[in-house]
Parts: sequence; C-alpha cells; structure tokens
Amino acid sequence: MIVIRAKTLGMCMGVRKAEAAALKAAAKGAASGKPVLTYGPLIHNPQAVAELEKAGVSILDPEAFDAGRLDRKVSGSIVILRAHGAPPQVFQHLAAAGAEVVDATCPRVLKSQRKARELRNAGWSVAIAGDRSHDEVAGILGCAPGSVVVQDSAEAGSLASSWAGRRVALIAQTTIKRSEYDEIASVLALAASEFLAVDSLCPATLDRQRALAELAGEVDALVVVGGRNSANTQRLFMSAKASGKPAWHIETALELSAEVFGFARVGLSAGASTPDSLVEEVEARLYRQEGPC
Ligand code: SF4
Repeated sequence: MIVIRAKTLGMCMGVRKAEAAALKAAAKGAASGKPVLTYGPLIHNPQAVAELEKAGVSILDPEAFDAGRLDRKVSGSIVILRAHGAPPQVFQHLAAAGAEVVDATCPRVLKSQRKARELRNAGWSVAIAGDRSHDEVAGILGCAPGSVVVQDSAEAGSLASSWAGRRVALIAQTTIKRSEYDEIASVLALAASEFLAVDSLCPATLDRQRALAELAGEVDALVVVGGRNSANTQRLFMSAKASGKPAWHIETALELSAEVFGFARVGLSAGASTPDSLVEEVEARLYRQEGPC
C-alpha cells in the first residue's frame, strides 16, 4: 500500500501557537505552583485536550466563570485564552479575579478585532458576517461595541434598509464560507454610501479542502483524521465522501477500519485542530497494515 498525504493538512498556525502557549504556561505553572487553566477547551480535539491535561492544563468553564461563579478558582492561576479570542470584558474579569492571563488569540483573529475597533472609532457602521453564537464573533463584537452581526443574506437585507446611505464596513468570521460572505457583502454594498469589505477570511480551511480535492483524484480511498467535535474536520470528511471515494473519519489510529487495507493507494488528510502525532500514528499503522484491535 502507498499512503499519500494531502499537500496541506493538520493543525493550522493559530491552533499550533495556542497549543505551544499552553505548554509553555504548563511549564511555568509547574515551576511556580500556579494552576493552569484554559478558558474553555483549547482545541477541538479530545486527544490533544487529554495531552494538555496530562501536562497539567485543565479547562475552565467559561459560562460559569462569566456568571461570576469561579472567581475564587481562577485567583492565583494562569488562564490561557483560546485561538478564537474573547471580548475585552473577559480579560478584565480574569485580571480582576486575580488571574495571570496568557492571550493565545490567533494573529488573524487579533487583526479582525483591531480592524473592527479602528473602523468603529473612525465612524463606520461595522457588520460582522458570521455565527453570532461563535466565540470569535463575540470577541470581535466586544472590541467594537455597536457593531452588528449578520448571519446570512436575509439578515443583511433587513440591516441594509436601516443602514441605507451609511459608510458600511464588513468584517468576516475567519472561518465563514467565501460564498456566504460574498452574498452578505453584495446586499450591504448596494445600500451603503461607501462600502468597505475587509478580507478577514482565513485560508486554512479552504487550503485543506482544496488539497483534499486534489488528493482524491490520485487515490483509491481517503482517511480524514480529527476530532468528531471539530467542524472543519467534519467538513473535510463530507468533501471526502462527496468525492465518490470510500472515506473514513477517525480520531485515532486504533479506529482504522480493516477495509481500508484492501486499497492500494490511500489518501490522508486531517483537520485544522489535529495534532501531528495523530496523523503520524495513522500513517505508520497504515504502512504496517495493522487493522483495528
Ligand atoms: S483557522 Fe485560521 S484564523 Fe482560525 S485559528 Fe487557524 S489560522 Fe487562526
């Protein structure tokens, strides 16, 4: 059997940085005796979260903290903020509760936060295209109060009527689909006196999708590695299935199906939150032709 990796796969820059920041904080915590916590799960991958737990990093429940129930728990601890960022109020609350804050917000998300703030201060009406329940969107909104979240073109239509004649800027949640962003942009642009589309989409998801599509043409079957709770891994798996090739979504090498060993050329991809070690284990097990235990 030959195993071919997608040209782009696995952990994106932002998640890699956040993981490195957490491991550094874990070492500091071990040396100083301070507990180390992440504001919610750091990575959408159960194995990576388990590894962090082994290193001494545990998870702080963001809802309970925001409700003021965990101030005593965070006092004297190191708290890491995730790659998708958080509103400034969370920083302030953590600092007031006596925590040392490590900001692991992805540089791309930080850029969106800064841009939204800058545009609001300059008098623009700012819309954020994305999912209003997503933490990244909440973080951007917190940096630019008065901005409005737009989830789809229907919502953009309602907003366009009340924002007609204004200077409108549109920021995107980094992981929104390009087609959804373009639809929202075209509706708002029609009503605005001046329109600024800020290109804040992150290419990480699309790069993995494109690489998978290219790979599908070269192989007989596809294996996608990543957390079942990872939205971008799920999307990769859907694309793998849509390619018409037999495809599997697994979290670890132990989940490899016996069937996959019947194929001569197997393609390997992984989501943007999948650690390298998991990809390497799957690849090694495929080459060793070791089926499920
Ligand atoms: S997907 Fe993009 S924006 Fe999100 S953490 Fe990764 S690199 Fe940053």
